[in-house]
Amino acid sequence: MSRFWSPLVHQLTPYVPGEQPKIPNLTKLNTNESPYGPSPKVYEAIKQAANDTLRLYPDPQAQDLKQALAKHTGLPADHIFVGNGSDEVLALAFQALLKQDKPLLFPDISYSFYPVYCQMYQVNYEQIPLDQNFNINLADYNRPKGGIIFPNPNAPTGIALPLSEIRQLLDNNPDTVILVDEAYVDFGAESAVALVKDYPNLLVTQTFSKSWALAGLRVGFAVGQPELIEGLIRVKDSFNSYPLDRLALAGAIAAVEDQDYFNTACRKVISAREKLTQALNQLGFEVLPSSANFVFARHPKHEGAWLAQKLRENALLVRHFNQPRIHDFLRITLGTDDQNKLLIQLLTNLT
Ligand code: PMP
Repeated sequence: MSRFWSPLVHQLTPYVPGEQPKIPNLTKLNTNESPYGPSPKVYEAIKQAANDTLRLYPDPQAQDLKQALAKHTGLPADHIFVGNGSDEVLALAFQALLKQDKPLLFPDISYSFYPVYCQMYQVNYEQIPLDQNFNINLADYNRPKGGIIFPNPNAPTGIALPLSEIRQLLDNNPDTVILVDEAYVDFGAESAVALVKDYPNLLVTQTFSKSWALAGLRVGFAVGQPELIEGLIRVKDSFNSYPLDRLALAGAIAAVEDQDYFNTACRKVISAREKLTQALNQLGFEVLPSSANFVFARHPKHEGAWLAQKLRENALLVRHFNQPRIHDFLRITLGTDDQNKLLIQLLTNLT
């Protein structure tokens, strides 16, 4: 790294995204993408948008997408902020929190990008341990803080908090911003979007990358009361006022408008999760109760790293975590029925 950059850049620990190796016939269950394609209406909309208007800048307000999301969430369009994946929306929220004296609190086992954002944007932070059952215990967040963020369901555990606990957290902390990262909420957890109208300190983020099967398009959004949304707009507009490109806008709008396709895809993932959990239990795995499109599982007799390596040798990728406490766990994205069967066949031979 060049000495010309600031010492801060030298100190950053870069986020390591899931690998995308070019292995023939690869079964990719390592990055929580959808195993199904997006709605066919998305392809059609993107094809139609690929025309002469590409020479024009996109709508800086993304108004049509916000209208579609307003209908989807049941909230007015001024409660919605859109960005290039929820990663960008989160990055902007972290920037809006920078240089506070009190720390931003988040779980120690959680989305690994949070500490990276904090280092990058100089946000003071503190990681709160999960309890012995890998649950987020919100009572532990009862300490001085500049904000709280957690995914619901949490990643990589897949465990969801009930809405009643989130409501209680909001009631107990009216002066603290609470960010609920709902990247996986559509696979069976209760969404905090329903609470936004009652709490001016609540920001909820969601993504098109999982339940909408559009990780390649990079679309995410935040939902909150207009005053919170205003902060994100200000940070965003200070360096780039175009939230999404024309093709992403067209694709995302078509996706939201095809609610039937969305609901069916989510239901398929949920039923695959139940089947896979049962099959893994039968092989002796401990599987945490997941409300996401992945399961987090460990085998009492086999190391996670070994299992992941053996699966990889058979062209099947799952995610293994090296972190203390979870180093024996595998995070396995739900695939198609055939992919899940292949996984179970391979694991049957290994365990
Ligand atoms: N939050 C969590 C908990 C995630 O796991 C991810 C995806 N890895 C994201 C946010 C970001 O997703 P995207 O930028 O694709 O919307």
